[in-house]
Amino acid sequence: MTMTGQAVSSGARVVIGGILHETHTFMEQETTLADFTAQSLHFGEDIITSMQGSRTGIGGMVDSAIEYNWQLLPALYAAAMPAGVVTAAAYRELLSELRDRLAQRRPLDGVLLALHGAMVAEGELDAEADIVAQARAIVGGAVPIVVLLDMHGNISPRLVELTDVLIAYNTNPHIDAYARGVEAAEIMARLLRRELQPTSAYARPALLLPAQSTATESSPLSLVHARAAEIKADERVISIAVLAGFAYADAAYTGPSIIVTTDGESELAQDYATELSDLLYRHRQSALPVFISPSDAVAEAKKSGSGPVMLVDSADNIGGGTTGDGADALAAMLADDVREGTIVLADPDAVAICWRAGSAAEVTLAVGGKVDDWHGRPITVTGTVLALSDGVFECELADNHFASLYGNTIHMGRCAWLRVAGVNILLTERKTPPMDLAQLRHIGIIPEAQQMIVVKSAVAYRAAYMPIAAAIIEMDTAGLCSANLSRFPYRHLKRPVYPLD
Ligand SMILES: [Zn+2]
Repeated sequence: MTMTGQAVSSGARVVIGGILHETHTFMEQETTLADFTAQSLHFGEDIITSMQGSRTGIGGMVDSAIEYNWQLLPALYAAAMPAGVVTAAAYRELLSELRDRLAQRRPLDGVLLALHGAMVAEGELDAEADIVAQARAIVGGAVPIVVLLDMHGNISPRLVELTDVLIAYNTNPHIDAYARGVEAAEIMARLLRRELQPTSAYARPALLLPAQSTATESSPLSLVHARAAEIKADERVISIAVLAGFAYADAAYTGPSIIVTTDGESELAQDYATELSDLLYRHRQSALPVFISPSDAVAEAKKSGSGPVMLVDSADNIGGGTTGDGADALAAMLADDVREGTIVLADPDAVAICWRAGSAAEVTLAVGGKVDDWHGRPITVTGTVLALSDGVFECELADNHFASLYGNTIHMGRCAWLRVAGVNILLTERKTPPMDLAQLRHIGIIPEAQQMIVVKSAVAYRAAYMPIAAAIIEMDTAGLCSANLSRFPYRHLKRPVYPLD
């Protein structure tokens, strides 16, 4: 940023806001306004108080706006834990808040939004395009709108048309949300200084990626990012968004996509977008995961002598919206007499029983498999309540998936540490993805001392757990984020698409 630039964009009236939800449309549990309130729902100045300094995308936007000396106009910030379709009532409420605040703050110089890209509301399959269309209707065609997306977004051509510049996280696990928020603000600053004439192109391979194939350090996405990095050296290129898509949100444009924005060079943008999309499609076979049964995975993990083996339960990937109560892997660990195995289960009934019994009590109860028929059955265990907690912890890892959405303090609801034979079960009232070691440590479980740890996650666990992991094993468990996409009854997705057709 130059001093002259600072002077020019200084004082600009820029609205900042965000509505983020990754929607699993095959899930029955709807997402209500209460789910946003429980996680992250802030209006007006409260956004600055709550999110400034956080490692979220909006945190990066707020910090940059202050540095640019803009007249910052915070609208609303809403993020909820991934789950089923957002209710019409919740969606209407969030949108009307955004619309009202945009209208009240006119005249405006720019709008910066943090959206997910895979949000589906009751009656609105392409929520992000609808949100930007409604914002556009209020601010008019001349005010730049820059949008930051989660790289799991399913992007429609309509969203690209409505937005001046779209960028997305480059990493999964999402450790660059804050940096991308800063980048979004930087692009806005250049737009405010009239330095750019952005033109964007979109390309989409006929492909779906299961969640565990969306890691950015593995093929196929690593190859696309490597080529994108080369293309970015071209000075005419403003940004490249590589979207992996979210296969479990059934909409017309579900799946990966590429958005390239150049400075006034529309053909160049299209050439690069098509090249990257083709590259991804050519390597589609590397996206087909290999799985083994939970009992084989446990037997394999028992052979490890050096630190915890991650047993990856990606079918019950909480970050993808699942229940977090699948107990298949627990059953396998108990059946194989594991010494020092750990699993986290979201089970408010079991937590209540442990709290009533109290610390040090012995209890017999059913755990897991209670929410729906997709995640296996409850299993009955007898064990000792080793500790109880309020389930609040601060992330150890500054840049992680949690912090990218909700800020650094995580609330799991009441928790209980139940010890059954050699297995530690952390029972939580609210489902909470395994994105930070403090989740286990806060109650006394030492992650490094485990022989195996079940992680209910596809990729997001890696930032926190890979530094201590001896190995990872992908398990074939029951769950709504199964990598076997032919299990899901798609109705809206454009066909044909690999690997379904
Ligand atoms: Zn994501």
